[in-house]
Amino acid sequence: MLLKNAYDHFVTITNHRHLVRKHCFEMGLFVQGLLHDISKYAPVEFLVGVKYFQGNRSPNNAEREATGRSLAWLHHKGRNRHHLEYWIDYTVNRNDKTKYPLCGTKMPVKYVAEMFADRMAACKIYQGKDYTDASPWKYYKKGREHYLLHEKSRKQLEFMLKMLAARGEEETFAYIRRHILRNDEKLPTIIYRKLKEKGYVR
Ligand SMILES: [Zn+2]
Repeated sequence: MLLKNAYDHFVTITNHRHLVRKHCFEMGLFVQGLLHDISKYAPVEFLVGVKYFQGNRSPNNAEREATGRSLAWLHHKGRNRHHLEYWIDYTVNRNDKTKYPLCGTKMPVKYVAEMFADRMAACKIYQGKDYTDASPWKYYKKGREHYLLHEKSRKQLEFMLKMLAARGEEETFAYIRRHILRNDEKLPTIIYRKLKEKGYVR
């Protein structure tokens, strides 16, 4: 059973990483694409995934139900900058409207783009054939009020999600690569040509 869980969990995270890598490559984020969620193979994260493997939802939630907190998640969010939780810090200018002493701080836009790719991949895997370009935006809208996300990062993420819903993947990835991340100029043409041949970028 444990061995089967280990295999299934390995396949689940590896499939997710492949999909995110594909999305990241289309935006010119090669290093991030290769390293995305790599800490999930560390024992502290991987073994929790095996012990609480669910198949249809995150093992972290099962760990929370069993022990009151997910050590796997606490390890994960502290090491992966594409999670908004990585960027949560204490706020120094509290006003009456601030409910918590914590706040979301500004994320470098390349991590906002990786978060965008991550959310897309998760939606694709969970929704299967029901997935459309509008799915990630619809899913985001449901949880929107709860995120401790810096205003600027929130605007950037929402822009990407809305553009995806309205214009589709190809146009959105190209726009992010060229105009938001300005990654087009950074890569030698020869690398781009190679990636195009392999179907990584369009
Ligand atoms: Zn992650």
